[in-house]
This record gives sequence, structure tokens and C-alpha cells, in this order.
Amino acid sequence: MEEQASLFDMMDEAPEQEAAPSEASSQELAQAAARIKKLRAEIEHHTYLYYAKDAPEISDFAYDSLMRELKGLEEKYPQFMDPSSPTQRVGGYVSEQFTSVRHEQRMYSLDNAMDLDELDAWLARVEEFFGHMVPVCCELKIDGSSIALTYDNGRLVRAATRGDGVTGEDVTVNIRGVADVPLALAADATQLITRQEGSIELRGEIYMPKSSFNALNAEAELAGKQGFANPRNAAAGSLRQKDPGITAQRDLATFMYSIADQRSLGVNSQWDLLQWLRAAGFHVNPDVKLCNTGAEVREFCANALKNRDGLAYDIDGVVVKVNNFDQQDAMGFTSRAPRWAIAFKFPPEEKTTLLRDITVQVGRTGKLTPVAELVPVAVAGSVVARATLHNVDEVQRKDVRIGDTVIVRKAGDVIPEVLGPVLSLRPEDATVWQMPTTCPSCGSHVIREEGEVDFRCISIDCPAQAAERLIHWASREALDIDGMGEEIVARLLESGRVRDVADFYTLDAVELSQLETGRLNKEGQPITLGKKTAEKLAAAIQDSKSRDFWRVLNGIGMRHVGKNMAQVIAGVYPSLEALMGASEENLAAIDGVGEKIAHSIWTFLRTPDNAAVLDRLAHLGVNMQADAVAAASVTDELAGLTFVLTGSLVQSGMTRDEAGERLKAMGAKVSGSVSKKTSYVIAGEAAGSKLDKALSLGVPVLDEAAFLRLLESRTLEQ
Ligand code: AMP
Repeated sequence: MEEQASLFDMMDEAPEQEAAPSEASSQELAQAAARIKKLRAEIEHHTYLYYAKDAPEISDFAYDSLMRELKGLEEKYPQFMDPSSPTQRVGGYVSEQFTSVRHEQRMYSLDNAMDLDELDAWLARVEEFFGHMVPVCCELKIDGSSIALTYDNGRLVRAATRGDGVTGEDVTVNIRGVADVPLALAADATQLITRQEGSIELRGEIYMPKSSFNALNAEAELAGKQGFANPRNAAAGSLRQKDPGITAQRDLATFMYSIADQRSLGVNSQWDLLQWLRAAGFHVNPDVKLCNTGAEVREFCANALKNRDGLAYDIDGVVVKVNNFDQQDAMGFTSRAPRWAIAFKFPPEEKTTLLRDITVQVGRTGKLTPVAELVPVAVAGSVVARATLHNVDEVQRKDVRIGDTVIVRKAGDVIPEVLGPVLSLRPEDATVWQMPTTCPSCGSHVIREEGEVDFRCISIDCPAQAAERLIHWASREALDIDGMGEEIVARLLESGRVRDVADFYTLDAVELSQLETGRLNKEGQPITLGKKTAEKLAAAIQDSKSRDFWRVLNGIGMRHVGKNMAQVIAGVYPSLEALMGASEENLAAIDGVGEKIAHSIWTFLRTPDNAAVLDRLAHLGVNMQADAVAAASVTDELAGLTFVLTGSLVQSGMTRDEAGERLKAMGAKVSGSVSKKTSYVIAGEAAGSKLDKALSLGVPVLDEAAFLRLLESRTLEQ
């Protein structure tokens, strides 16, 4: 989390796409484009953390508000619309660890109503669409992970996660261990299946009951392991285990609520579908209601909110669905969500607790972050004992003092927030906190650079920074050394064997096997890492040597350089040698970099200690070149041409992202909006307004067959 740009403090970056003519001034457009670009990158990052790592860093609420801001901007400036924008996709991620599965029908996300006004607005849209209110089915929004179950002739043949909505992960072996998923449908229910081949795909939510989550975390704590942030992450993480035996041990449960192809059953409403699911042997949430008026819907939502704490599982809202399937079809879908449904999200939960202390955490670049130490309190599904206070200004602005009763807020999950003190409860001896003048880890003086909010420890020998730097290097988004976690890094530092990231590459399995874990066995002897774990870890260290160059740039820990920025830089300077040859001006000229970041990179590379580490890494065999295959495969057949993709590529089954990548690999630019400058529009099935615009502007249009021929022959037909 440290060093990530704060969500609302995003740096200026150059706009990625050309702005079509509009009423807005060019400055306004440039600002909007920069903000859109930044928001997309930020959302992508958090989507990855949420779905791939099951370890989100921001609350759902914050995520949703980023998404809404982006949506708002894209609506206001349609010229910046991009088919690969997160607003156009279902959030999700497909891990390479599981086989991917294409969903027969797309798994959609849901649009959100953040308050009752927005819920009313949606109800009004439904009413307007039909000319009168139609019955809607209200269900609890279970806070778990989506699952799709396919039954062939009544037998379970496949289970898949939602993934990005088009492709998910095959978790069939794991799901077989989840007791409440029937391996076969009840015979009576099977008769209602109308599809000839008798195959149906059912959908629902897999979740972990609160009590099981608490027990699992208590167990993890005993074993000195990190627990899950909340039941939802616990469910998703337990489902996506490499070892299905572990999934089977976890107490997972399901509530089913939908079907991929509604015509595959002889039922014609959501309500009837739920009855069918129940009869077929599935668990269906009992708390559903068919409502005929807005007032009934609001009452259902209010009750759900009131009763949520008493439920055995977490819910994060209410899903309201137009009941009749024909009426659902009439309303249809947007690119990411059905128009016939809305998720009413509960407001973030707030609790009060005591602020016991404010401690200081030292990050990998020396940033000092004040952390609120709280009397543990249960908020929105998990226990909160600590919360970041970000920086000194924030502590002052909130006027929180040690000894205060504070209000803590959490929206469904993760990052809890201290809102402020309850002044009427402030004790006389509440203490005003001040940033220490020395680093709590190494004792050196801390400084605050002009114009910066953060205090920093700039000592190169600070152990707290060293640990954070090493952990970051080994993390999944950097060199991805599987098994090199916090504990092992701490031991390696303590033993003095590792001081900087290059030292990792001097370790071997024999030495690692002797590393003490800090735990004692029954006889009071220190437990060492052991041969098997050590061999695995040594192999992971070796593997990491051949990673792509951008990972080194991300991992080495330059300020302002995270994953995205590292990729941008490696795209322009594809080797360490090339990068070392770049001047500060060269760096600042890279699209999206700018002076501040260029200065940080340049200074970092010119600092002798840093250069020495990079040099040692190279000598120890760590790859310092951008992926040669990828770089070499970019050709220039389509250089200078701009393509826009619209509609779905049903023949090839390619997503628009994939198609875009193929075009880029031939040197083309891919844009999200059609203008006079567009060279070609590729129109798949059900192409929309972009095709109309291309035709009106006289931009040539290729259908999917022509596009596929282009990919094969690598030349454009005349
Ligand atoms: P979101 O993840 O915020 O886009 O919300 C959409 C997700 O809510 C769906 O993909 C489902 O996994 C989940 N969900 C939970 N309960 C329900 C329900 N009763 N009906 C539909 N979706 C639900």
C-alpha cells in the first residue's frame, strides 16, 4: 500500500487518446482524459488485488466510487470511451493456475444503487420502460464469490468462477468437496429441463459462514499465519486452492439464484426459478420477496439492513430483479450488467471504539505512516484493531487524540477508516500526538521535504525499510518469488545473510534449509525451514531470475514507480543498459512520466548504492532485458493505422482486448472512439453506435471474417 498514489491524489499524465471535437475547452478535455486514464489504471490495479490475490487494499465503497467517477466522466466525454475500460467489463481475473473456461453465456456484474434515491431512480426507469410498475423479486446480496455450475443430464460436470465474465476459472475438482453442492439434480426437477442435450448452467454465490470464518482465522493466528480480511475473501481464497483437499476442509456453502440460459427450463420468472432450484436440491436463500411497489422494495431493503448482523453469513446489499423473464429480455443488458436488475448496496457501517495509541510504521521507501491502535471492534464482518491515519496532516485535520473515543467506518470489507473523535467523550488527559523526530526502527532523524506531506527516514541502513524492500521485491507484482514471505525475510535479515535484494540470489537450498523459523519444537529446539521447503524456495529464487525487465523496475523500489509505470518505462527502454543511458530529459519525455517521476528514476539510478545493487543483480544472472519474444513479435505491418473495435467477435470468440492486442502486435494503434482519423472500424456482431458513426464519417469497416484474414495474411485487403 505504501507509496501508492492516494486515490484522490493522482498525478497528471498525458491523455492517451485523441480528443474528438467538443464544446469543452482543450484544457478541460486534457484534464478529463488524464483523470480517466488514471482512474482506469487505479481500478485495474484494485481489480487485480481483489480478484487475483483475494487481498483487496481498498474498501468496496471506495472501489465503487472510483468506478462511478469513471463512468460519469466517460458519459460526459464519450470521445474517451474505450471498450477495454473497466466500466465495460465485469471485474474479475483469471489465474494461470486454473484452466480457463469460457462461459456459455456471459456472467454479468450488477449496477449499484448506493442509496435509496438511486434505488428509486432505477425503479422509476423500470416503471417508465413498461409504462407501469411490474413485479420485482428482492433477494439478499450474498457477500461471497460467484460460481457457475454446469449439469449435463442432471450430473455436475463443471464449476467455474466468474473471472472477467467471459472466461472464468475451472474449479470443478474443488467444488466437488463443497458439501451443499448437489452432484446430481433431483429427478423431478430434471423433467423441467427443456434443452435437448439436457445441459444447464446454474449460478449462485459461494460463501463462508461468519462462524467458520472466525474459526479459520483463529486457527491461522495460532499457526502464526495471516488470516483472511473477511468472509468473502476467505470464500474466494478457499475455493481457489491448488489442493482441493484444503477446499474440502473449509466450511463453504452456496446459495443459488440464477441460470445462464433462462430458456433452458420450463419456468418463466425469477420467482419460479428459485422454486425450481430448491426442488432440484440446491440451497436457495429463504429471504426473498416478490414486491409490487417501490414502497415494498424499500421496506425489504430496510429490513435486510436491520437484520444483517443476526444472519449467519455476510450480505452487502439487496438485489432487485424484474421478475418476469420476458420483461427482463425486453429491458436487456448494458455491456457489463443487466438493465433489469440493481444491487442496492448497504451504506458503510460505523462503530465507536477507543484509540489506545498511535504508532508509526516505516515503509519500504522510508515513509512514516501513523497507525491508529484501537480497542478491537467488529465492523462490517471483521474485527478492526488497527487503521492507517495516512499522515500528520490527516491526524491534525481529524483532531484525533490518544485516549479518544473514535468513530471507525468500514464498507463491507478491508481498509477501515477512522472518521474522527466523539468530542463529547474526550477525556481530559487525551494526548495530542506528534510525529517522532527519529525513526522508530533505526533511530535516525526523520525529514519532511518541502511541499511533501510525508515524513521519511532516509537512512539506507534502516531495517524496517530493508524488510519492506525485500518483501516488495519478492511480491507477486515484482519478481514473484513464491514462498518468500514476511517471516522468511525477517529471519534472513536477522541472520545477517541478506541485506539487499541481490543477496537473495546468493542463497542456495542447503543454506536455506538451515534457516531458523523462529519457532521451537516440543523439545524446545529451534525449527528450521527443512529440506523440502528450502528446495522449493531456492527453485523459486532461480525462476525469478528470468522474469521480464519491468518487474525489476517495479521491484527495485524507485519512488513513484509501480507496476504500470515500470511497464511504461521498460516499453521505451527495454534493458538496464538502455535505461542507464537515458538522460533525465529523455525520461521526462516518455508519455505518462513527467518531470517528477523522471527525477526520481534518474536520481535513483545515479545513487552509487542503488547502481551497485543493480549491477550485482545483473552479475548474479537476473534478467535485465524486456521480454525479447514479446518485443520481437511487434511488427510494423499496420504502423500508422488506427483501429476501433465494436461488437462481439463471435466467430473467433476473441475478446476485444485480445483482438486489440493482436492489432497492436502488428504496430497498429487501437482507439476507443471513432473519429475522422480512424483508419478502420472492425465490427463484430451486434455492433452499435460506433459502426453508425464509422458509416456516417465514411470510415472503412471490416467484418470479423475480414479481420481474421488480416491476422492471418498480415496484409490489408484492397
Ligand atoms: P458486483 O460484484 O458488485 O458487481 O455484484 C454482482 C455480484 O453480486 C454478482 O456477480 C453475484 O456474485 C453477487 N450476488 C450476490 N447475491 C446475489 C443475488 N441474490 N443475485 C444476483 N447476484 C448476487
